[in-house]
Amino acid sequence: MRVIRSVALIDRAGSFDLEIEGERVRALSPSASAAAPRWLAMPSLVNLHAHANRAYAASSQRPASLSDAVASAKRERANVSIEDVRARAARLFDRSIAHGVCSLRTHTDVDPVSGMVAVEGVLAAAAQVRTSLDVEVVAFASAAADPSQPETGALFAEAVERGASFIGAVPALSARPKAALEALLDTALALEVSLDIHLDEHLEASNALIHQLVDATLTRGLQNRVTVSHACVLSAMPRDEVRRLLDRMAEAGIVLVVLPELNLYLQSRGDGAPRLRGLAPVLEALKAGVAVRFGTDNVRDWFFPFGDGDMLETGFVGAMAAHVDAAQDLAALVCGGRRRIEPGDVADLLLIPASSFDDALARRPDGRVLLRRGRTIDAIAGASAPLSGHAGLVDAGD
Ligand SMILES: [Zn+2]
Repeated sequence: MRVIRSVALIDRAGSFDLEIEGERVRALSPSASAAAPRWLAMPSLVNLHAHANRAYAASSQRPASLSDAVASAKRERANVSIEDVRARAARLFDRSIAHGVCSLRTHTDVDPVSGMVAVEGVLAAAAQVRTSLDVEVVAFASAAADPSQPETGALFAEAVERGASFIGAVPALSARPKAALEALLDTALALEVSLDIHLDEHLEASNALIHQLVDATLTRGLQNRVTVSHACVLSAMPRDEVRRLLDRMAEAGIVLVVLPELNLYLQSRGDGAPRLRGLAPVLEALKAGVAVRFGTDNVRDWFFPFGDGDMLETGFVGAMAAHVDAAQDLAALVCGGRRRIEPGDVADLLLIPASSFDDALARRPDGRVLLRRGRTIDAIAGASAPLSGHAGLVDAGD
């Protein structure tokens, strides 16, 4: 058993000793030491929406709009190699681990132009960090692939064969968005995978597809297998309509992924100062019982010039943009639904050199220590090591 002395926690004030036995948290008890906590201990971070195959590819871009960014990404697609993708994804994965991310879902382009190049590059990078970072691959039909076309179905099947566990697309980019949406659900059913869709990343309520998605999910019995990313349009709908819709999303077990940085950056863009924030209503969704998560979305590519894969930063931005004040609610948004550390938990934890959760959010310091199943992860080597002896950790064997 190992004991990490004098840690701060998210869900209660004071200083605590954290006991870890094997792969699990054994106990949390008030610390005998009167010293102020040197570390915040929290569940490790989870990034539920990234685009690793594009990460760091175009840092100096300033897109005029979402459609401008889509056009830039489409132009670049034919020139990318598996090694280009592997290097981009490896950089994002390494930075994610250094920030304390233990799990990352990445939307990975498949289309007739680049075929499986992105999937192969991302899977190669994921294999290199598999003891540190869980990588979920979404086979993502890019702007060059219409989900309702049979050749796109074949690309999905091939990607799933290689290791993708989700399929996804942007129905609004298809010639017939409603048909594309229905085809996506049918393909997910046929391939026996889950679905993560970029849906309603705009603010025009009359063009919303979210009602159709909820109906189609319930009709096909796909409850608890569908994730909606973005749904910015919810912020432009009447509140009563949103409330009814969120109730139905909860009934269908649809997960809502909100992307604070990207939604702030790209929504209401191109017409002077932005008038709307563009985020789906996080507080209302939580109140309705919808599972809500945050993701970084794009990192330094054609869609967004900033970011480094740090979900603590995403939490900080999301706290401001969505007014999430409750610490445990905010933790759940960036930690895959985990609100606190509890005895019996698998010891996938993050230690941050900070005196409290608010201090960690305010400073987002380096020097974080990621634990996977009770072992520390060396952020440089990507290898796991026993907890004891990690530089700077107040750690005592029993
Ligand atoms: Zn995205």
